[in-house]
Amino acid sequence: MSTDPTTSPIADLRQQLDKTDDEIVRLLARRLQTVGLIAKAKAEHATAIRDTERERAVLARVEALANSLGISGPLTRRIFSEVIDYSVSRQVASLVDSERSHVTVAYQGQPLTYNQLAAEQYVASRGLIGRFVGLASLTQVVEQLVSGQADLAFLPIENTVAGSMNQVYDVLRERDLHIVGEDSFKVELCLAATAEVPLPALRRIYSHPLALEQCSAFIDSLSQAQTTPFADSRDAMRAVADAKDPTLAAIGSPEAVRAHGLTILRSDIGNQDEILMRYVALARAPLPVDERVLCKTSLILSTRHEKGALLRCLQVLGEYGLSMTKLESRPRPNRPWEYMFFIDFEGNVAEARVATALETLRTEALYLKVLGCYPAKATAQAAQASEVKPSAEHVVETAPAAAPAKPAVRMSKHYKLADRATRSADTLVRVGDVLIGGDGFVVMAGPCSVESAEMIEKTAHYVRGKGAHILRGGVFKPRTGPYAFQGLGLDGLEMLAAAGKAAGLPIVTEVMAPEQVRDVAEKSDMLQIGARNMQNFALLNAVGKVDRPVLLKRGMSSTIEEWLAAAEYILAQGNGQVVLCERGIRTFESATRNTLDLSAVVVLRERTHLPIIVDPSHGTGRRAYVAPMAWAARACGAHGIAIEVHPDPDKALSDGDQSLNYPEFASLMDGLGRVRI
Ligand code: PEP
Ligand code: MN
Repeated sequence: MSTDPTTSPIADLRQQLDKTDDEIVRLLARRLQTVGLIAKAKAEHATAIRDTERERAVLARVEALANSLGISGPLTRRIFSEVIDYSVSRQVASLVDSERSHVTVAYQGQPLTYNQLAAEQYVASRGLIGRFVGLASLTQVVEQLVSGQADLAFLPIENTVAGSMNQVYDVLRERDLHIVGEDSFKVELCLAATAEVPLPALRRIYSHPLALEQCSAFIDSLSQAQTTPFADSRDAMRAVADAKDPTLAAIGSPEAVRAHGLTILRSDIGNQDEILMRYVALARAPLPVDERVLCKTSLILSTRHEKGALLRCLQVLGEYGLSMTKLESRPRPNRPWEYMFFIDFEGNVAEARVATALETLRTEALYLKVLGCYPAKATAQAAQASEVKPSAEHVVETAPAAAPAKPAVRMSKHYKLADRATRSADTLVRVGDVLIGGDGFVVMAGPCSVESAEMIEKTAHYVRGKGAHILRGGVFKPRTGPYAFQGLGLDGLEMLAAAGKAAGLPIVTEVMAPEQVRDVAEKSDMLQIGARNMQNFALLNAVGKVDRPVLLKRGMSSTIEEWLAAAEYILAQGNGQVVLCERGIRTFESATRNTLDLSAVVVLRERTHLPIIVDPSHGTGRRAYVAPMAWAARACGAHGIAIEVHPDPDKALSDGDQSLNYPEFASLMDGLGRVRI
């Protein structure tokens, strides 16, 4: 009898087996088709997607059938659990990604690394077809998404051994991107070499530092082996395969091991039995999710400079019955020992109670940014319980707590976050180490425009010596005519930042366009919105998205109501760090450049909790009038002043007439100390 498997009876049997396998796959496809029809019917009738009773019955039925056919019941149950999970994911996907089918996904690394395998798992679970673009760095991945070359950036955010990925949190903080999905991926850590060698023979182990960290206990047990970090676990595998040295091994995915023809020496070498990586999918725009899908919402917040501030924010979530799944603190950039908090909670922003909770949080927090709302996958309960909530009506009935009663207050039509009725205590805004608001009185001083490194540094030192707290200086100048000096731009900003640093003063400078906000926010401690831009809504929205204090000057023909409505734009975007600046308005009076409206200070102290400062330089336009009006500002209850100071005002490139020279500034400061309130 021939032993050739291609001619033996085995060949026939194998053919039969192949047919059966094909049939199983076809049946699975048919099952999914029916699932699709059910999903449609459910969508029309707004019923729950997951029916745990029905799932239990299905599993019991197939298990009994398996037992009666003499095959393993538990095995059949496991297989069907997987099939049902997959079906549910597809139904959720149909509610989430109904309009998309193909997506380009950028990730960091190479094919068959954990990042790529996880991206593939995510895309498949959503019933999408993916094109995967592996890039060398996180920055490149983000750029790929921002530039529109990718639809999604798929990034690891947390690991059950190594904890949070700080760089990804920084991306979420800095960029205007949105989390549209998450997934939990099982990291299978395999040790592989070119041949089956005994573990004590290994001298060097290659892998990505994160993989090495996750297997540290196992590696420590190989006392003779050293580790070498690689940019990528795939590079590590390749290096081992190329070197053909049996004393070398690499750690990576089983898929990568196979791709390089290596031999697995040991699987599951991680510090924990099961290592999971949580991933987030980022997109350029948020993706609304049907209310029936169990969602998580992620946000960043900075707390107020008050005792118990974080506790009050967390209480808001509790009051609205929102369960928090994660709280992470990260240092605030350039603010030693100050923190911002990343919070995940279960809830969909489409639900009224979530919307109200977020609105309340905006009044409690100094800065709040919603990072995204997306179907929950990586939650302790979600792993067990349903991925889909019972039904919208049911949830309303069982919501743990109704919205807490709010005091009945008169709400202005255009502003509520800025309204004193929403928050009775004064808001304190921190600029560098300086607090504006409350009982303090803050002096901002410096030239209208930064004209050179030397003049700004000299002025910074001078005003600091006389007691100023913040250095001002324009680098993007809003000039009446296009031929006037327009400012030194980003070069000027470097000079201003260096001068501030040298003198130990935080800096404030004007931004004129949304596209400047990111660069200026990086270098400046406070962003100024000039009078001419008070109702530039795109600009207000842009500064509302960054975690930087904003000095909002009053438009020269704006009412106090319009001014507060402009502030509301910034607050509504999540940035609560707004300081108002009265700088004079246009009236029929021509003796002064503008009419400084000091009565605005008393009106604002009554109507809003935001700090208010006065700019008597632009308010009067005449050097001689500046000091008396600065003193008057203090007397009427302003939280500070902004004064233009120039080493040689007659030669100033802008606003020389209203700029004080050094001795004039010194005498202004001297008089300020004598003002009685
Ligand atoms: C400035 O502060 O230099 C300035 C241009 O102010 P405003 O926008 O109030 O005119
Ligand atoms: Mn000016």
